[in-house]
Amino acid sequence: MPETFIHPEEIEGLLAGNRRPDRRQIEEILAHAREAKGLNPPEVAALLNLEDPDLWQEVFRLAKELKLEIYGRRIVLFAPFYVSNHCANDCAYCGFRCSNTASERRALTVDEVRREVELLERTGHKRLLMVYGEHPKYGVKYMAETIAAAYATRTSDPCGEIRRININAAPLDVPDYRVLKDLAIGTYQVFQETYHPGRYAELHPARTRKGDYAYRLYALHRAQEAGLDDVAVGALFGLYDWKFEVLGILYHALDMEKSLGVGPHTVSFPRLQPAINTPLYHETPYLVSDDDFRKLVAIVRLMVPYTGMILTAREKPELRHEMYSLGVSQIDGGTRIGIGGYSEKEKENIPERQQFTIYDTRSLDDVIRELIELDYIPSFCTACYRSHRTGEAFMNLAKHGHAKDTCQPNAILTLKEFLLDYASPETRRVGDALLAREIERLDARDHERVSRQVKEIEAGKRDLYF
Ligand code: SAM
Ligand code: SF4
Repeated sequence: MPETFIHPEEIEGLLAGNRRPDRRQIEEILAHAREAKGLNPPEVAALLNLEDPDLWQEVFRLAKELKLEIYGRRIVLFAPFYVSNHCANDCAYCGFRCSNTASERRALTVDEVRREVELLERTGHKRLLMVYGEHPKYGVKYMAETIAAAYATRTSDPCGEIRRININAAPLDVPDYRVLKDLAIGTYQVFQETYHPGRYAELHPARTRKGDYAYRLYALHRAQEAGLDDVAVGALFGLYDWKFEVLGILYHALDMEKSLGVGPHTVSFPRLQPAINTPLYHETPYLVSDDDFRKLVAIVRLMVPYTGMILTAREKPELRHEMYSLGVSQIDGGTRIGIGGYSEKEKENIPERQQFTIYDTRSLDDVIRELIELDYIPSFCTACYRSHRTGEAFMNLAKHGHAKDTCQPNAILTLKEFLLDYASPETRRVGDALLAREIERLDARDHERVSRQVKEIEAGKRDLYF
């Protein structure tokens, strides 16, 4: 195994060496976290070992505070869109793995992609996360065709369009990433699954492409080299000790900052879920409890304060509510993860079509109404990447506390579009009340501009942004 920036003995040493952090040490770490400059590995190791319930309440409070300070009260919405589940890998936890004979295989045709995207647009979505298995027959050419088809799909009355497509797919080489860069994709996500090389080898057979730990670990470095400067890290929690994985994510972010000058745009923390004919879920000793999950989410917010945090419909609605206040900045809504699951209603949420089970199957309208009732501003904003505020440029904005200067107005403008074009009467009612309050909270300059643009949207204009 080549030398990488993950040194398991070092991570284990940090966790063992900070086993019983005292109150003063934690208070110092929290004071440092409050500066919103991130935390170092020993500080994170100490927080991971914290037990005092009162101090945990402090951690949760601070996670919320930092999120509000950096991003404001907006939460960005997207739809996962599973395009193909053909896969040559054999990841022990995944319903799509090649040895899983219970999985129905399917790769959407370009026409089927259009049909799915039309339906997504008709619910109000503007941002997609397109997801692919890894298979030689469905490589970058297939990805490029389906991405181009999704971007080109437009609906009318009301006018719908996809304005940003993020990708979750296997690691690629630099020339293939360039093909996707030319298609103007947003973020490229690759989850390391587990950062522990030994556990990684147990779960990903060496004969498969995914068996190469180091190739995957540097996937996002290569993506950045190809010019894809918004990239996303993640670990699949439940495969190994969650504390080790949190430190793995931190070392990954630190190495990206050191060698590329910019850390990840977002971080994901999916929890392992049951999948058809997949015993690993029932056998792993590492499933993460809800309590530990809350803790890890809050720690991630403190350790990488400028990184977007994504929470998916793998989690139940009740837990999702709580997580919004711990630092989460992006969620999915109206989620279906079966291949063809948006247009083939009779086949939605059936295990044979899905990679795993999801627990939040509410409609987008329901998810949005709930966010509004909790006093968050649901956002479909795609302004940054279309205004070239990506990679380092976005991070600089965030680090100087300016991300919310654009995030908040753009959330208002995109929510206004949603309320007019797609919302149910009840969602429109609570949404309009929220927008009126939010516009009043803006400073004089933004107040004037946003009020004017809201009127323009009411008069039929679309896609206005800061
Ligand atoms: N095939 C590509 C890859 O492996 O990078 C795309 C990723 S896969 C379709 C999306 C992600 O789903 C994986 O990276 C993994 O973290 C997650 N996943 C796989 N099986 C899962 C399960 N049983 N429960 C929850 N998440 C799972
Ligand atoms: Fe294939 Fe990805 Fe599933 Fe692994 S996680 S079997 S690579 S789809």
